[in-house]
Amino acid sequence: MEYAVRYYQYDYDRRVVTEYARRGQCSKCGDCCRAFIAFQRTGNAVRGEGLSGGDSAQLQGLWNVVDDGQELRRYKMMAFIGWANRCTHLGCDSLCSKYEDSCARGAICIDWPMGPKCTEDLPTCGYWFESIGSGVLEDAISEALELT
Ligand code: SF4
Ligand code: SF4
Repeated sequence: MEYAVRYYQYDYDRRVVTEYARRGQCSKCGDCCRAFIAFQRTGNAVRGEGLSGGDSAQLQGLWNVVDDGQELRRYKMMAFIGWANRCTHLGCDSLCSKYEDSCARGAICIDWPMGPKCTEDLPTCGYWFESIGSGVLEDAISEALELT
């Protein structure tokens, strides 16, 4: 059975984790492929090895964690810079010419959008996020450490 991807926002300052359900669908507007968005990433964690305490102790602010059942991928959206960053793979039809090529398209494109902050500056985006639960950061990390 296909694993339903889960989306979390880890607030390392407030020590709170919120889980979001991603609703809607891609309207193929192409705006996320035209936008210049600054991101930070950390090393991914294999599911079951979790987000280690040592690692998390160094993190600050809001991070989005995407759990695809095999891996936990962590992104921090720093800032929406503008529109002068059209991806070379974006066709005139606003579709990605590398959509089926996971090497060329990369994890960030596959995971996008990973949380509510991602779509704040993209009003045409067909996705939105609904909060479905929250808890203490340390508990979520412990749970991730126990998952196999
Ligand atoms: S690789 Fe495709 S999905 Fe990723 S930014 Fe470029 S056009 Fe968009
Ligand atoms: S901004 Fe949203 S709807 Fe538009 S192409 Fe990107 S993911 Fe799809």
